[in-house]
Amino acid sequence: MPFDLTEDNRLVAETARRFAQDRLRPNAAHWDETHTFPRDVIREAADLGLAAIYTRDEFGGAGLSRLDAVLVFEELARGCITTAAFISIHNMATWMIDTYGSPQQRARWVPDLAAMRTMASYCLTEPNSGSDAAALRATARRHGEHYVLNGSKAFISGAGANDLYVVMVRTGEDGPRGISTVVVEKGTPGLSFGANERKMGWNAQPTATVIFEDCRIPVENRLWDEGTGFRIAMSGLDGGRLNIAATSLGGASDALDRAIAYGRERRAFGKAVVDFQATQFRLADMATELEASRALLYEAARRLDARDPEATRFCAMAKRFVTDAGFRVANDALQIHGGYGYLKDYEVERIVRDLRVNQILEGTNEIMRVIVARELLRA
Ligand SMILES: Cc1cc2nc3c(=O)[nH]c(=O)nc-3n(C[C@H](O)[C@H](O)[C@H](O)COP(=O)(O)OP(=O)(O)OC[C@H]3O[C@@H](n4cnc5c(N)ncnc54)[C@H](O)[C@@H]3O)c2cc1C
Repeated sequence: MPFDLTEDNRLVAETARRFAQDRLRPNAAHWDETHTFPRDVIREAADLGLAAIYTRDEFGGAGLSRLDAVLVFEELARGCITTAAFISIHNMATWMIDTYGSPQQRARWVPDLAAMRTMASYCLTEPNSGSDAAALRATARRHGEHYVLNGSKAFISGAGANDLYVVMVRTGEDGPRGISTVVVEKGTPGLSFGANERKMGWNAQPTATVIFEDCRIPVENRLWDEGTGFRIAMSGLDGGRLNIAATSLGGASDALDRAIAYGRERRAFGKAVVDFQATQFRLADMATELEASRALLYEAARRLDARDPEATRFCAMAKRFVTDAGFRVANDALQIHGGYGYLKDYEVERIVRDLRVNQILEGTNEIMRVIVARELLRA
């Protein structure tokens, strides 16, 4: 752990570490294999303040920093990448409601979200718009004091299982200025869900399409003004990307530890696998990549905490760098395990599968480069 963390930062990380090691790590392989969504165990995270980490404390948030959140998700992912990512998305949606909601909206939704009596999904992607999110087509047409929603959202984490859906919909013109953010509660007539997607990883949480068919919600479910939805969605993602990067750092760190432990035991040509210089150089590169990742990630989190004007660029750089490095390191850890790495018994194959999606979601790593280049060339 870096030398410049405060005692409070370390305590937060230690709390997450104990929970991850006691409650997540022993079960992660079983949940993956049986496709179990461990709702009750995830709820225990709320008792530790991990359901609304960087949400203000007025309605039950923990009021901690983005740096604290990154430390938490790094530790949680050392136990189970999939549940860590689920908790991360819930935190992002909760923060969006608390930040952009009116006092009445915050009082209505945040206390239950912070206690995880309810859980929330973030709904931006559609079947025909992912990277080009501002092209979304799901509509919310105003009829008096209601909106009527039609359209669908694809790949939604927690869809069907969760209670609240923070949804970006078109209320006006084409492009980003015609988008608004609304909250849709499970059970609202006209809201339904597609089948659970069959995925390469993240098997311990559901992913499905969210469908709106003449789904009527009160206008008071809209966050902030009409036309601000794209800004809300993007500001949620700055922190979301740091959290996802942190799960890559934690998952890959776990893979490195497993590779060292295995390489010490496994023998070939009369010596331990870690005694080959090729293995040592690989381990050295893995550790170096993770430390460089950690430094960039913590720097991006500090900038977001400080509301630095360059925070968005740093969040995109960190997401791209750390999720690429994390996947490479996990894959190298699998290689050090030889054929056993390919078997489920040693769990590195699960880490590789679970980390792969981090290069794709919350903006693909190509889109992260688009953001970084745009900011560089803006001047
Ligand atoms: C398991 C999982 C969970 C998810 N959870 C959620 C969720 O909870 N909520 C949510 O809203 N979404 C979620 N997503 C969706 C995810 O954010 C999108 O898949 C992602 O943003 C990419 O969109 P796409 O799949 O439509 O790819 P596309 O946009 O079709 O991209 C295809 C390829 O083209 C590249 N590309 C596109 N545009 C450019 C460009 N301008 N320059 C260079 N390359 C480009 C992309 O990088 C990619 O390689 C999830 C996805 C997965 C797999």
